[in-house]
Amino acid sequence: MFKKTILGFAIILLAMCNNVLAQTITEPLKPKAWTQYQAPFKIVGNLYYVGTYDLACYLIVTPKGNILINTGLSSSYSQILDNITTLGFKPKQTKILLTTQAHFDHLGALAALKKTTKAQFYVNSPDAQVVADGGKSDYEFAKYGTTFAPVTAEKILMPDEKIIVGGSTVQLLHHPGHTKGSCSYLVDVMENGKTYKVLIANMPSIIVDRKFKDVIEYPSISNDYAETFKKMEAINFDIWLASHASQFEMHEKLKANPKYNPLIFADKTGYLKALGELKKAYDNKLIADEK
Ligand SMILES: [Zn+2]
Repeated sequence: MFKKTILGFAIILLAMCNNVLAQTITEPLKPKAWTQYQAPFKIVGNLYYVGTYDLACYLIVTPKGNILINTGLSSSYSQILDNITTLGFKPKQTKILLTTQAHFDHLGALAALKKTTKAQFYVNSPDAQVVADGGKSDYEFAKYGTTFAPVTAEKILMPDEKIIVGGSTVQLLHHPGHTKGSCSYLVDVMENGKTYKVLIANMPSIIVDRKFKDVIEYPSISNDYAETFKKMEAINFDIWLASHASQFEMHEKLKANPKYNPLIFADKTGYLKALGELKKAYDNKLIADEK
């Protein structure tokens, strides 16, 4: 009897531990620039920066509800809400949530923000599964277990699909490699009778040390990168933004031009240079992989 009770307790305890472990979220990296404060500001027209110092989050404001692209780390939750409020908007006006990639530093606060705003989450099809399992099926970060709170999308997006809300158009550009469903967004923004094509680019950096051919969880990884570089080189746009502020030198540009001027981000040369450097890293990896 006594032995049976002990065994019973042990089983219950084990089940509890398992449950706790399943809920544990590990954010494997948290550099200071990712959590540091950044004052929100207008980029152009109805497009605003509401992210942290380096984790770029963008708010598109429309009369039919707002779109929020990227949600930073889990700790970015209150910063993003404060930033939206500071700009004079209500978090509850957010109707659609998007992400440029299914990594913990771009959708860490997604589940919590979804709960608060009651917005719908739309995801690029190949990232739907990994977002729904909190990163556990990620080809590289699976080794850390759950890296963000899981979210099931209300809508699955297809390459080049357009999201149209309150007169604003956001087009998904499928740019896989960094994750299976990494994507950029092309946003049409009107200001003073002029339309700006704004590219929110997911710059295709490589995160695996393994040879591409050993990434059995993602067999098309190398080809996907190659296709993405080709597609990204050919994009026409007026303004360049990215998933990380550092990727498009946002702080340097803001420092040199403290007054509102959307054209400080019209940097095609910088974009092609950054893309070229990433392409070089990719080419070098292909050579190293052969050794
Ligand atoms: Zn990433």
